[in-house]
Amino acid sequence: MRYDHVMNKRCPFPVGMDRRRFILSGLGAGAGLLLSRAQAQALMSPAAGTTARKPKVLVLGAGVAGLAAALKLQESGCEVTVLEARTRPGGRVHTLREPFADDLYAEAGAGRIPSTHALTLACVARYQLPLDPFFPDSGSQVYLWGGKRAVAAYGQGPDLNELNVDFTPRERQVGFEGLSKLYFDELRESLRSRPADGWPFPDSKLYKDQTFSEYLRRQGASADAINYLTQGFVDDSLLDFAHDAMSHAVPMLSKIRGGNDRLPQAMASALGAQIRYGAEVQRIEQSADGVRVSYRSGGQQQQASADRAICTIPFTVLRHIEIAPALSAPKARSVQNLYLGPVARVYVQTHSRYWEKQGLNGFASVDQAMELWSPTVHQPGTRGILMSYLYEGLAREYSAQSPADQIERSIQLFDQVHPGLRAEVEAATTWSWLNEPYSRGAFLVARPDQFELLRDIALPEGRIHFAGEHTSPWPGWIQGALHSGLRTADEVLRG
Ligand SMILES: Cc1cc2nc3c(=O)[nH]c(=O)nc-3n(C[C@H](O)[C@H](O)[C@H](O)COP(=O)(O)OP(=O)(O)OC[C@H]3O[C@@H](n4cnc5c(N)ncnc54)[C@H](O)[C@@H]3O)c2cc1C
Repeated sequence: MRYDHVMNKRCPFPVGMDRRRFILSGLGAGAGLLLSRAQAQALMSPAAGTTARKPKVLVLGAGVAGLAAALKLQESGCEVTVLEARTRPGGRVHTLREPFADDLYAEAGAGRIPSTHALTLACVARYQLPLDPFFPDSGSQVYLWGGKRAVAAYGQGPDLNELNVDFTPRERQVGFEGLSKLYFDELRESLRSRPADGWPFPDSKLYKDQTFSEYLRRQGASADAINYLTQGFVDDSLLDFAHDAMSHAVPMLSKIRGGNDRLPQAMASALGAQIRYGAEVQRIEQSADGVRVSYRSGGQQQQASADRAICTIPFTVLRHIEIAPALSAPKARSVQNLYLGPVARVYVQTHSRYWEKQGLNGFASVDQAMELWSPTVHQPGTRGILMSYLYEGLAREYSAQSPADQIERSIQLFDQVHPGLRAEVEAATTWSWLNEPYSRGAFLVARPDQFELLRDIALPEGRIHFAGEHTSPWPGWIQGALHSGLRTADEVLRG
């Protein structure tokens, strides 16, 4: 039986290329977690004018959460200052253009925009940014499993006899592309209609208390099937995995032509001089009258004061920042213990897209905790880029290696996937979100022990409001970050 991967007709990859897309694949369209275009527009609209004094606000961080909050507050008549430690806006929406030739680019962070993410799409439309499909719409895909290689025609799975795969008889019958359907139908039905703002679904204890891999084991899945379906997220809770899958299982995934960082850049341009770059927040202090933030800028200690602060700093970074008086016990626990999964990526620029001559589109699926993409699909030119997207333990491993060792390790792997690579290599680079001092992780991964930390995560503490993907119903997505920023702007405007 072959799985009808109807959720994304433009995507040739049944499973695995996009780790969660086909898992729980029916959860996408028509399921909960949908925001209508009208709701998205309403969220972005400035507050109606009042004569009441508008608060002065400090926004900590110019990622998309901070930018969305600051824009809404500014448009609603507030005086806003954004303090950003890096010298650029966008945080985890970051496009790499170096060291690539011919204006080619690849994403270090956010890659794909789901067609169901109305808020992200409304924001993209607001700045008139053109979209391209994320996945190629033709070409074959390579599978590398147990040291053996197979080529699967567009939209089909590989011939298992060509690979070293130890599947159960049932799994062999359905192939790679049928595994998600085999193991997730029941779960899919049970979560289908959950509303977005119900996250983290306090009544879904069963799904929270077990990891995704435990669940698969209980279903009788083989080690190879678990490896394939989890893609390294072995400690992720079943609920988190299922919840995230809703955003992958959609009719279309897109990317912004010219690079996804064009979105935060456009937002930052609209804010202009309200953003202070190179301003690293080191202390946040609040009193009955206001908030005072100490930050380091140009080697100098500086201070800024306001009526309120919106903090979008990832908790992995915030836990190293002094906050006075101390946060409430539940919030402090969340700040100290929230888990952001590590992600590392390795990029290799090639002289040509030589794989295309063999009918391949450059994407591949391997028996390791990673996805392999070709970001130059839909980019003009003849040179290509191949890149890996490494998760969890494997990402941690790579992050501990030197760039040269990561690149050599990746070239070895990419060469097995697309033989002939070595002769084509022109440039290479690496990226690790774990090693980024202002991120220290990629995105929230809710393991079974994390749900208690999520319960009150979005609640303000006095004059400090909390935004960022981790505080939203779409953790790990641009839409989550935007939504959280707009939510906190509303909180501030309501007083
Ligand atoms: C590898 C990866 C893949 C992803 N894939 C997708 C995807 O395909 N689709 C999608 O929609 N989303 C994706 N995301 C998620 C998306 O990128 C994030 O949800 C979103 O960018 C988070 O925005 P944020 O504003 O919450 O946080 P950030 O972007 O982290 O913003 C926080 C800001 O605070 C700043 N900061 C930190 N410390 C300080 C300090 N001490 N002082 C001042 N400023 C500070 C940081 O520099 C940063 O600019 C991905 C993310 C990653 C990392």
